[in-house]
Amino acid sequence: MAERVIPLIDQRVAARAAAVPAQAIAADGLLVDTLGRPLRDLRISVTDRCNFRCSYCMPKEVFGKDYPYLPHTDLLTFEEITRIARQFVAHGVRKIRLTGGEPLLRKNIEILIEQLSALRTVDGAALDLTLTTNGSLLERKARALKAAGLQRVTVSLDGLDDSVFRSMNDVDFPVAEVLDGIAAAREAGLGPIKVNMVVKRGTNEHEILPMARHFRGTGIVLRFIEYMDVGATNGWRMNEVMPSADVVKHIRSELPLVQLEHSARGETAERWGYADAQGKHDAAAGEIGVISSVTQAFCGDCNRARLSTEGRLYLCLFATQGHDLRSLVRGNASDEQLASAIGHVWQGRSDRYSQLRSSMAPDSGTGARRVEMSYIGG
Ligand code: SAM
Ligand code: SF4
Ligand code: SF4
Repeated sequence: MAERVIPLIDQRVAARAAAVPAQAIAADGLLVDTLGRPLRDLRISVTDRCNFRCSYCMPKEVFGKDYPYLPHTDLLTFEEITRIARQFVAHGVRKIRLTGGEPLLRKNIEILIEQLSALRTVDGAALDLTLTTNGSLLERKARALKAAGLQRVTVSLDGLDDSVFRSMNDVDFPVAEVLDGIAAAREAGLGPIKVNMVVKRGTNEHEILPMARHFRGTGIVLRFIEYMDVGATNGWRMNEVMPSADVVKHIRSELPLVQLEHSARGETAERWGYADAQGKHDAAAGEIGVISSVTQAFCGDCNRARLSTEGRLYLCLFATQGHDLRSLVRGNASDEQLASAIGHVWQGRSDRYSQLRSSMAPDSGTGARRVEMSYIGG
């Protein structure tokens, strides 16, 4: 059998220092990029490590025991993260999502949450502060996270069948412990909870209906995510993508659905509500979401920036280059200069990878030197 060749590429070398422009850029919440998209959503990766080895994200063959994770001194400290986040918020960010790697592996993450929860948007409102986790440490940490000021969590879960789940996380982690984590998050008041399921054709599509049945009527929103060609190591193939349209069709074969309005501009999920006997949305049964990152590009509304564990700003999930902010933070840059540098990078943004993907050769897959999902977060 031919072996899959997986390039071991260190994306972290691909960064240039963010420049401070000669003319200051005011942080007044009005910033837009070259396509007129505002900056509203910041995803902060707090660690590049994870205790899972999901093959679509951190395949074991690449992320083995010799993998060179970032040394601790390279990571942004909580104070540095908060200082950078404050400038993003001044530029219009309203939502901050902590991610990774597995964010709950970062020691004392509650302290960072406390600091971030004190930030206020340009309108003086509290931030929408959330975290995406694989749920493995959630049972232990849910209360402390809530007490620190976290509002809600998104838990990744790719199936209910224990053997499917154990093989997808590739570290033999049992599904029951993630379900306990979700229950603990609910008890702690970390809601509304979302559950994200990456659907990989040939691997877990038979888990779609069991997952839908399980979460229907619980108040938890289950979202199906198309398997994406992120990074350069997961060996992505288009024929392993299950289009969201097929997911919806599959669920509808048993559970009637009606389409709902988008919750807000820039929200990536298409919403579908469970229908009652009259074909109207049954609010008690709840809703699902589908995120069609591959089959239906939503770049036109993309208002998300990503900050890597070591302080690099990425403008797209599929970026090949980051903009180093840490050198400014660890240098003598003032807050105004830092805000100007962030503004300058965003003003120059033209990224729209998913829209352009369809014009590329099918199955061209993983050619470019893209940043890894585990490094910048989802
Ligand atoms: N470890 C945490 C977790 O799994 O929730 C947070 C980081 S993880 C990179 C964030 C999200 O990215 C998860 O929901 C995961 O399922 C998703 N993800 C990772 N690789 C993906 C891929 N190739 N396609 C689609 N989603 C992916
Ligand atoms: Fe870890 Fe999340 Fe990536 Fe899975 S998806 S390997 S849990 S970072
Ligand atoms: Fe945003 Fe890039 Fe995804 Fe398009 S491909 S929606 S620009 S992150």
